[in-house]
Amino acid sequence: MRKVALVFVLAVFVPSLVLAWLAVRSLRDQQFVLERQQSLLYQGVADAVAKDLVGYITERQREFGSQVEALLTGNKPLDAANSFDEQLRKGWPLAEVGFTVSLDGQCYSPSLFGGAEARKFRLDNEKFLCNRESVEVYWDSPKGAINLSQLDAKSSSPRSDESSAQQPAANANNSLNNSGKFAKDQKQARNVEPQQAQQVIAKGNYSKIAASEAEFRQLIGDSTEGTVARFLQNRLNLMFWYRSPRDPQLVFGSLLNLPKLVEGLSESVKVEPASLNEEVCVALLNDSAAPVVMSNSKFRTNWKRPFVATEIGEALPHWEVAVYLVNPAKLTHSAQTLKLTLGLLIAALVLAIGVGGWLIVTDLKRQLTLARQKTDFVSNVSHELKTPLTSIRMFSELLADGRVTDKEKQRSYFNIITAETARLTRLINNVLDFSRMERGEKKYNFEKCDLAGVVRETVETCRPQFEAGGFKLECELPDSPLLVNGDRDALAQVVVNLLSNAEKYSGERKEVRVEARSQAQPLPHVEVRVLDRGPGVPKGCEGKIFEQFYRAHDSLSSGIQGSGLGLTLARQIARAHGGDIAFEPRAGGGSCFALCLPLKL
Ligand code: ADP
Repeated sequence: MRKVALVFVLAVFVPSLVLAWLAVRSLRDQQFVLERQQSLLYQGVADAVAKDLVGYITERQREFGSQVEALLTGNKPLDAANSFDEQLRKGWPLAEVGFTVSLDGQCYSPSLFGGAEARKFRLDNEKFLCNRESVEVYWDSPKGAINLSQLDAKSSSPRSDESSAQQPAANANNSLNNSGKFAKDQKQARNVEPQQAQQVIAKGNYSKIAASEAEFRQLIGDSTEGTVARFLQNRLNLMFWYRSPRDPQLVFGSLLNLPKLVEGLSESVKVEPASLNEEVCVALLNDSAAPVVMSNSKFRTNWKRPFVATEIGEALPHWEVAVYLVNPAKLTHSAQTLKLTLGLLIAALVLAIGVGGWLIVTDLKRQLTLARQKTDFVSNVSHELKTPLTSIRMFSELLADGRVTDKEKQRSYFNIITAETARLTRLINNVLDFSRMERGEKKYNFEKCDLAGVVRETVETCRPQFEAGGFKLECELPDSPLLVNGDRDALAQVVVNLLSNAEKYSGERKEVRVEARSQAQPLPHVEVRVLDRGPGVPKGCEGKIFEQFYRAHDSLSSGIQGSGLGLTLARQIARAHGGDIAFEPRAGGGSCFALCLPLKL
């Protein structure tokens, strides 16, 4: 048993506890896991919108290139350069100001007299565009870093003042290589602090987009088009520029009308897939983290704390696509529901393992007890067979030898032999009946019979043996028959077993009483009681004495022989007749076994 317990503990209990512990640990991480899943999902939404916005801007840039090409068609490049601002504004609604500069730092358009906007633009940007000033800009061109030497070699239509213009460019190239100012490595904090950016928290919440200090010439490099963004008086100025193959020395550009661009971008600011519309709101935030377009116009929140956010890029520096949870408590709530469900599941599993384990251990204990009882039973039965056989053999040998001549003694020996044979028969009948019942082969011959008559006959059969043992056997039976539906032999066997027990367990006071009577309550039934004045059934064993092989009085300690089957059989027979047997302590000491059977009316 100890070994089994050890195996159970090692193979079932400990692994279950470990599993439960792991499960409880994973429970604590549920909110984190859920947030991570959601953040991945919504990050995808934000990235897709940002990609769409970049795509829109790239398309507009191409559109700008086509506009320039269209203006150059049929015009001399220099003519087109001079009137570029007016022409572009007429033909392209996104343009706020059009400008043309040459690589050598000459500004053709807009004219200083072209209006307030044009004048302001020139004042603000001329020095930068004409390579006379390095400013902080965010730039993007498809070809990346510049290579001025190649560009200079490629110049297709050299101008008269080209050699003088080469100087600042070369200087710029040197400054680029030497000072390293051009490198985009100046870290700048982001405007928003996304809640779901674990790496960001570890490394610092920096923007991926960095400004570079450079002259316009440097940014162009040998690319043909690109974007340049700069902040002037805290206002974003976004410019497209383009160089036509017709005259690569000329750079055509446009300062974009930001509100109009935003209007165009607004179509892309939507929640995709639409099923997430109820869950999140997508917003396009400008460089001061204020929303300029929202997927849900009624939504209000702390714009600086989105759930996730993605930067758009150099075209719109420090602008972000941010995703906000419409109902942030829902996430915590779902995590709690998930936690609760999993917690309950784990508890149920642990409980099931516990109860299962307990049932297994109980059953194992029962099986072990039964196995032990069976072993005891074999030795008890052998002993019970041996004792009467020894007496029978001894007395029959004495009689056979003719050494006992006294008639009285002879009769007494014969009586002993008869009693012992009866005991043997009883035992063998019990064992055979028990095995028949176990196999379900026990057959009853039910008929209408008088239970009082059965009891009377059985008592009279046993009387000589009781009297020989010095017992006072009283029998109180009614004169009228007590009719039941039953098998006479089986019922007689019940009474014999009860009487035999009363004889065995009577101790010093050898008084046995048998009573039978009919009772009307609770239902009409017949009750046969066998009473003795013995020590009674030990406390706590009242129910167990009816179990197979169970013996409250051990053969070794009590010296009383038995198989532990008598009461089992008696109860099984009684139940097969629709009745039962019960034990109760007898008033004044002793036991009382009562057989109850339904009365046959
Ligand atoms: P056994 O062969 O041991 O008598 P039983 O099934 O007839 O088997 O009885 C089961 C146990 O019930 C006995 O071992 C005994 O301890 C207890 N018992 C039965 N009858 C009596 C009685 N009249 N008085 C006291 N104990 C009894």
